[in-house]
Amino acid sequence: MQHKELPRIIVAIDGYSSSGKSTMARRLASAVGYRYIDSGAMYRAVALYALENGMVSDSGDVDEAALVAALPRIAIDFEFRPDGSQHTLLNGRDVETEIRQLRVSSIVSPVAAIAAVRHDLVAKQQALGTARGIVMDGRDIGTTVFPDAELKIFVDASAETRAQRRFREMMEKGNAVSYADVLANVVHRDEVDRTRKESPLRRADDAIALDNSEMTIDEQDAWLLEQFNRTINSL
Ligand code: C5P
Repeated sequence: MQHKELPRIIVAIDGYSSSGKSTMARRLASAVGYRYIDSGAMYRAVALYALENGMVSDSGDVDEAALVAALPRIAIDFEFRPDGSQHTLLNGRDVETEIRQLRVSSIVSPVAAIAAVRHDLVAKQQALGTARGIVMDGRDIGTTVFPDAELKIFVDASAETRAQRRFREMMEKGNAVSYADVLANVVHRDEVDRTRKESPLRRADDAIALDNSEMTIDEQDAWLLEQFNRTINSL
């Protein structure tokens, strides 16, 4: 008997900083055999380049003109390991750990607000989606990168819940940070992401909203898998 081949879809997961989108996205991709792509890592890698090349002043201002001029010299790639993990490469160098540091988080939102940076990275993200069968998380995946994605989720949780999660994660990785700094960063990034001119963070009209403040990871996984199966079955 011939089995009907299941369609391969694009799953777009957007939401606020540290809302748990990447955990959800990674776990769904692994459960259904899709590729997971963390679009935020690309913005973080550009921000790291700016830091390393003296394009950020001591007060945290980004030299936009210098960064835009340097864009042709910034190559961002992903290496996908057999265990499903994604490593971000900046000009061939594995920067996966460095891009998660607070010094990068604190300048990434102004970098991501630069139109030329977004145009470059959105084109790269769209190219990664041509093979379909992907789960991508970010801020504008359902609105700008893949407006036709078959399944769109918009995740939110209170700022305190999100900062707590992020703080715990950073402490576990041995990053010495204060909870107050993490909370301030989360709130500030949300504000910059929401109010920027170029594809601001907002829920796509056809995205399903999820507030996961009170959910365990297992509950979240089950909820997302249900949305995924319902979408596949409706095609
Ligand atoms: O997802 P993550 O928190 O790692 O993203 C870092 C930053 O990159 C966000 O605060 C946002 O400014 C930017 N970003 C974006 N669009 C995306 C993904 C991330 O502007 N699709």
